[in-house]
Amino acid sequence: MTEANPCELDSDTRKRLHRMLRRNTETLCLEFQGAVNANGACVFKYRGQTRSVPRLWWEHHFGPIPEGQWLRKREECRSSRCACLDHHYLYLPTTRPSA
Ligand SMILES: [Zn+2]
Repeated sequence: MTEANPCELDSDTRKRLHRMLRRNTETLCLEFQGAVNANGACVFKYRGQTRSVPRLWWEHHFGPIPEGQWLRKREECRSSRCACLDHHYLYLPTTRPSA
C-alpha cells in the first residue's frame, strides 16, 4: 500500500546516506556527518547532483516536496546538521519575497 521508496533512492545511495546520519541521543537530532557547503547546509551527491540532505531524507520518506513548498526546520532544533523528520515541517510561503 505504501510506496517503499518514494524518491527512488537506490539501495547503495540509501545505505550511504544511512551511514552518514547519526542520532544524537541527547537532542534526538539526526545529524549528518558528511560535507557542508559554503552556506553551512548539509549536502549529498546524488545522481551527479548536489542535494540538500534534509530535503532528500524527507523526500525519501514522504515523496517529492510540492512545488512552492519549503522544508523548514523547527525552532526547537538547534543543529544545523539535522535531518530528523520530526524536526522539520513543510511550509507554504504566503507571500513571495520581492526581488
Ligand atoms: Zn534536530
